[in-house]
Amino acid sequence: MTDILEQINQGEADIYLDYGADAICAPRLCDKDDTTCDCLESRITDRDNQALADFERFPEFALFKIGNRFRLTKALINRMRDVYKTQSIRTACKGCEWYDLCTEISQNGYKGTLLK
Ligand code: SF4
Repeated sequence: MTDILEQINQGEADIYLDYGADAICAPRLCDKDDTTCDCLESRITDRDNQALADFERFPEFALFKIGNRFRLTKALINRMRDVYKTQSIRTACKGCEWYDLCTEISQNGYKGTLLK
């Protein structure tokens, strides 16, 4: 995880958007050949689609589409964090067990997070 975050922090990593678990979570969650993995359930894809629909309302996130590859710049990260705090891109967060923790982290200015 820290390798990936360090590459992003250094502006050296492209992001490829796809459905399901990301490159940080996937190795911890399930084998890529395990078709019964929770990450492949439709409720997860539904959440991905909810998040994408939220991002569609912001021109600065126009690249956030499945299959796109782009550089996650500091400006883009900061903009996502600002918008996240306003709840505008949190439709997919409804009902998530981590909702309160993520809210607290955003309200504390993302202090202590590894992504800078
Ligand atoms: S509350 Fe946090 S962990 Fe849950 S979906 Fe939203 S961002 Fe992800």
